[in-house]
Amino acid sequence: MTASTSAAPSVVTGAAPATTRPGRPRKPQQPLLYGRKPRIEIVFLWVFVTVPLLAVAAAVPVFWGWGLSWTDVGIYLFFHFFTGFGITVGFHRYLTHGAFKAKRWLRIVLALAGTMAIEGAPIRWVADHRRHHQFAEEADDPHSPWRFGESVKGLAKGLVWAHMGWLFTRENTNSRRFAPDLVADKDIRWFQKNFVWVLLFSLLLPAALGGLLTWSWQGAVTAYFWGGLVRIAVVHHVTWSVNSVCHVFGERPFKTTDKAANVWWLALLSLGESWHNLHHADPTCARHGVEKGQIDLSARLIWLFEKAGWVWDVRWPKEDRLNAKRVDAPVAA
Ligand SMILES: [Zn+2]
Ligand SMILES: [Zn+2]
Repeated sequence: MTASTSAAPSVVTGAAPATTRPGRPRKPQQPLLYGRKPRIEIVFLWVFVTVPLLAVAAAVPVFWGWGLSWTDVGIYLFFHFFTGFGITVGFHRYLTHGAFKAKRWLRIVLALAGTMAIEGAPIRWVADHRRHHQFAEEADDPHSPWRFGESVKGLAKGLVWAHMGWLFTRENTNSRRFAPDLVADKDIRWFQKNFVWVLLFSLLLPAALGGLLTWSWQGAVTAYFWGGLVRIAVVHHVTWSVNSVCHVFGERPFKTTDKAANVWWLALLSLGESWHNLHHADPTCARHGVEKGQIDLSARLIWLFEKAGWVWDVRWPKEDRLNAKRVDAPVAA
């Protein structure tokens, strides 16, 4: 990742630096929003939210009627983990927070994997997420579940908003303010520009594999259903649960200025992302499940990459840094 310039937002939170060197005028702050999402994009969003969800609803009767072949299970698992880690390790810990540095080929593979999750192109994903960290639970947070107040009704509405409602607004986070490092990166820009092709690849590759492995049209159709549609819905809702559930329920052992919480029962499914309280307390940390027994598969994958020599400068948790962030830490004199 390229180093941010003095006027660029921090890779950690998207926040502009508080001070500049004396004698240098501070560059004017870029606006929060830029342009509007095109209407056609909102139409496609509806399709990509509802069709995979309908597939999940149909999954039980399909499973009951036709069963599930091992080929479909294998294809499902491959695409689930490939795109899931693409989001958690690629888009989130690497591109958004710079928790480690990576070889260029791995950076491209991670960007491909994250884009194949169909949660939006990388620059927008990162810009929205850095904005979330900078303004967590404030008015400019794109997806706070506390937006409509703390009453039961307000919170119920807020949970739906944080989970997926916010995606449908046409306001567009300004990537030049929140992700100038990625705007300047030609590899990442390629994925931004060719999002539609990657989307089609993500949908059709499972079908092609299913067809070739079973040498049948039926194999292509069932692999499309499980490895394409059902997988997309599951990965979507797991990611979105981190934005909704993990900002309302759970434990908060570390100090943050927002309501991010650790949710143990989502840890395995979210590949470690549901240790969200620690993540907001220490956003650049490569490992979110920092306590003994807190399963964090994304951190484990980064560790394997490090052992292979593909990533370096990994920001592993540091004991004293963590202790200072604990709620029960003694206040420094
Ligand atoms: Zn959060
Ligand atoms: Zn984050």
